[in-house]
Amino acid sequence: MDCIFCKIIAGEIPSEFLYRDEKMVIIRDIDPKARLHYLAIPVRHYARIEEGTDRDRADLASILAKIAELAPTLGLANGYRLVVNQGDDAGQTVHHLHIHVMGGQTLDFPDLRRE
Ligand code: 5GP
Ligand code: ZN
Repeated sequence: MDCIFCKIIAGEIPSEFLYRDEKMVIIRDIDPKARLHYLAIPVRHYARIEEGTDRDRADLASILAKIAELAPTLGLANGYRLVVNQGDDAGQTVHHLHIHVMGGQTLDFPDLRRE
């Protein structure tokens, strides 16, 4: 499968794993949008929440709990933001579900409406 995140998880593209278990990996985003910008990526490939199985959704719950547990060690003790882009309107570019984990600074919460 031609999926960059599957290749990273398989070790075909060298990457530093900040955390890894059987359900997910955490890497640094290659093009950070905040001082700290990580990607938490489920090991199993699916693009959108509704395409995942019940097991995938259960794994997502564990992944969220693990992100919260790891936050202090990732420099995020003062807070962080989770973002999951889903589909075209959200500008999802990698079609392997992933959670952006951003922090290390105060984060604007911009009004995204256009006139
Ligand atoms: P999306 O727009 O799909 O929500 O986010 C995809 C994210 O993956 C982007 O923030 C982009 O910078 C990041 N990304 C794309 N290719 C790579 C890569 O090869 N390595 C890493 N670490 N991040 C990547
Ligand atoms: Zn994939």
